[in-house]
Amino acid sequence: MTAVLTAAVACAPLARVSGCDLQVPLVQGGECTYANLDYAASAPALAAVTDCVADVLPYYASVHRGAGYASRVSTDCYEGARESVARFVGAADDQVVVFTRNTTDSLNLLASCVPGDTVVLDIEHHANLLPWNKNGRRVVTAAATIDETVRRVIAELCSRPAALLAITGASNVTGEVLPIARLADAAHRCGARILVDAAQLAPHRRIDLASSGVDYLAFSGHKLYAPFGAGVLVGRRDWLDAAEPYLAGGGAVREVGLTSTEWAPAPQRHEAGSPNVIGAAAVAAACEYLCTLDWDVVADHERDLADRLRSGLEQLNGIEVLQIWDDTADAVGIVTFTVDGYAPSYVAAYLSAEHGIGVRDGRFCAHPLLARLGVSAAVRASVGLGTSSSDIDRLVDAVATLCETGA
Ligand code: PLP
Repeated sequence: MTAVLTAAVACAPLARVSGCDLQVPLVQGGECTYANLDYAASAPALAAVTDCVADVLPYYASVHRGAGYASRVSTDCYEGARESVARFVGAADDQVVVFTRNTTDSLNLLASCVPGDTVVLDIEHHANLLPWNKNGRRVVTAAATIDETVRRVIAELCSRPAALLAITGASNVTGEVLPIARLADAAHRCGARILVDAAQLAPHRRIDLASSGVDYLAFSGHKLYAPFGAGVLVGRRDWLDAAEPYLAGGGAVREVGLTSTEWAPAPQRHEAGSPNVIGAAAVAAACEYLCTLDWDVVADHERDLADRLRSGLEQLNGIEVLQIWDDTADAVGIVTFTVDGYAPSYVAAYLSAEHGIGVRDGRFCAHPLLARLGVSAAVRASVGLGTSSSDIDRLVDAVATLCETGA
């Protein structure tokens, strides 16, 4: 299984996955291959994605603006990319795909369209907290269990009218997965819609907007095995059509006079300027490839790796693995921890320099959550399609060495 998944991931020079031959110079002990355990930050590109980019580049031309062959190929590729994304997320008929720069951009775009208050949880990434400031943001404090947290969200939604519940699909700090279909149902019963920040969910779990009742979804290409610079907002057309364009400019209009403007409907309405055709094609290629995978197999594989990591770390003295809820039913492959007596920045630097392991440290753009969990910073290890159990064992051994030797 791991070999099959590893083979599916391209080895770009600085983003190689374990099993590839990037040599990381070590301060001690010669050389070893690099173990990338930082998929939650950005995932290495799929081979299918790099192939697609190579195929599309020769036809690089402006879309919707030319009758030339390259322009028509680019236009078809760009519009076809919307269809691939829509299939990947199981979009309903009234949901459109808008290409953006990343999840942050998608959430800011939607925030400019929401006609009323937005309810959020205090566990969110800043990208799903700060844009809603301008929308009468109402923050619900998460409880000790998911069940109680859902009850609090429902109580807030029903206490006075809210337009939107904006919630993450999976925490970027702990990986814990939220009960999205249940929250969607609750939001609708209270007269609100639901947005899911799927930056961490989309690369790891099958998403079906139509059956889960999710109204809006945002994710980033660079976490979905595609390059930086392209993201997606999928969502119901009416709010997107009623709002002022996110950016004003060419491509977003039907007719312009010197004193009047007739804006185009979504998605073009919110895509002014020459779009990122290559980025959209790359995201679509990732979506197409991921659609061929058995998501149960992927989820099981990543769950096994995360369990192996969690239990390996928990056997060591002085390690605390962070978790938001006591009754978590599912989590994507993110394990965030602290090592007693060591600053997370030191641990991350040690793992990289001494053991060739790439992890992230800090506050993960989730300051309120870290404060709530009672830590000022932590170390985050995260897995994906290219991760093997030997990467996990290597991390556990490295942390054990740190604890034993006090390196
Ligand atoms: N939401 C979550 C849950 C994330 O983990 C991230 C990035 O780490 C974002 C939003 C923002 O993504 P981007 O930086 O690609 O806009």
